[in-house]
Amino acid sequence: MVIYLKPGADADLVKKALIARGQWVQQVEKGRNGEVLGFQLASFSSAIPAAELERIEGVARVGVPASEHPRVDAQGPRVSVSGTEVGGGAPPVLLSGPCAVESEERIHEIARQLAPLGVSFLRGGAYKPRTSPYNFQGHGAEALRWLRRAADAHGLKVVTEAMSEVDVPLVAEFADLLQIGSRNMQNFSLLKAAGRSGRPVLLKRAMSATVEEWLLAGEYLLVHGAPGVIFCERGIRGFDGSTRNLLDLGAVALLSTVHRLPVVVDPSHATGRRDLVLPLAKAALAAGAAGVMIETHDDPSQALSDGPQALLPWQLRELAPFGEKR
Ligand code: PEP
Ligand code: MN
Repeated sequence: MVIYLKPGADADLVKKALIARGQWVQQVEKGRNGEVLGFQLASFSSAIPAAELERIEGVARVGVPASEHPRVDAQGPRVSVSGTEVGGGAPPVLLSGPCAVESEERIHEIARQLAPLGVSFLRGGAYKPRTSPYNFQGHGAEALRWLRRAADAHGLKVVTEAMSEVDVPLVAEFADLLQIGSRNMQNFSLLKAAGRSGRPVLLKRAMSATVEEWLLAGEYLLVHGAPGVIFCERGIRGFDGSTRNLLDLGAVALLSTVHRLPVVVDPSHATGRRDLVLPLAKAALAAGAAGVMIETHDDPSQALSDGPQALLPWQLRELAPFGEKR
């Protein structure tokens, strides 16, 4: 933002007033005779409405740079998904289930175990993006039906991923919340199709995306008609291989506190290790996450994908805000 001064205003007093409101003056704009015309504020200044800064004595007007993601800025912190509120002060939501939908019996069993634990959304991939294309890629359309039936049988909503625009209409038929995976955050034809599907979208951050690129991808979904976008931080690529990815909780706090957007954290893909999932889930909620997405499996040693990071459903009991339904 740029704060323009009235002619003859006391620049020092205005600067002090800005600092007192948590604003950081990055650059001073001066006129030909050295008089102060305005102050450019750093982006990490406290988030204060421009109107409030305009009330400071000596301020003529506040210039707000045009945003490239106005719809995201206007969306607000809460998205409603088939009647379940996510973000904006609503109780945090728990999204859980296996990495992949492996069989009808198995997804029913997992849903049965998850339902009493405060889980709102049953997750599970029917179309699986994998680190290696030679690994199991999911059971496709059949798995969507198994997932929906298991969720319905236990009063849960469905979140699942569409990997290609061709699959979006079918996935949207079975899912309450359409997931865009991290490998596809900038697959614009997929985002276009997802936006047009009319379903709210869970947009995973790409493993090397900046926050701005993530917000722009959200904007693209809203431009194409998505009724809401929930952002999902799942870890970015770091230099250290001791965890699968590097969970960027700073970005979570930034999105929820400064941008006032709903953001869900996936500590399972962020760490790749089940012993780190719950500590990071708690940290995510403390940082302002609107919910957490955690991979669970009734027998992780037999899981077809991501077994090492899967928890047993009952382990979710440790997450205090969700607790058991009474
Ligand atoms: C997933 O949630 O199933 C998944 C594949 O995650 P990501 O896109 O974050 O790797
Ligand atoms: Mn997985």
